[in-house]
Amino acid sequence: MGGQKAAKDAKDNMKRGRYDELKGILEERRREIMSEVQGRMRDVRTEGAGSAVQGVLDAAESSELDIQDEIEFALIQMKAETLSKIDEALRRLEEATYGYCFECGEEISERRLRALPFAVRCKDCEEAREVKQQRDRLMAQRRGAASLFIDMQG
Ligand SMILES: [Zn+2]
Repeated sequence: MGGQKAAKDAKDNMKRGRYDELKGILEERRREIMSEVQGRMRDVRTEGAGSAVQGVLDAAESSELDIQDEIEFALIQMKAETLSKIDEALRRLEEATYGYCFECGEEISERRLRALPFAVRCKDCEEAREVKQQRDRLMAQRRGAASLFIDMQG
């Protein structure tokens, strides 16, 4: 099986402790989100049942409730997206591509991954990227200001 071989490679290539650590971070995050989603779904159901009993009184407020339900739903959807990102990260961990910098190939520190489990760059590369983006923005602004100046002259 290809999958099993990839998993074995991951464990061989990566330091054993690091593999376990990263897996732990992702699974812990996964559990947190799962229980949060389950809690929210329970809340939505309970509120739904309550409003049905109160009947007519709630009809006036139903639009407000709908908005609340929509917010809840959007939150649950966001959590679901995060869950699929975690699954993706776990899959990449098995393939030994998770936890390495996309730019330089160095290991991304555990501390960084704990704070940002979906980070694809190491701290140095991310900072370099941000500096470059800032410079690009500044250049664009200067160009914009310069052309404005020329327009005013004309
Ligand atoms: Zn890097």
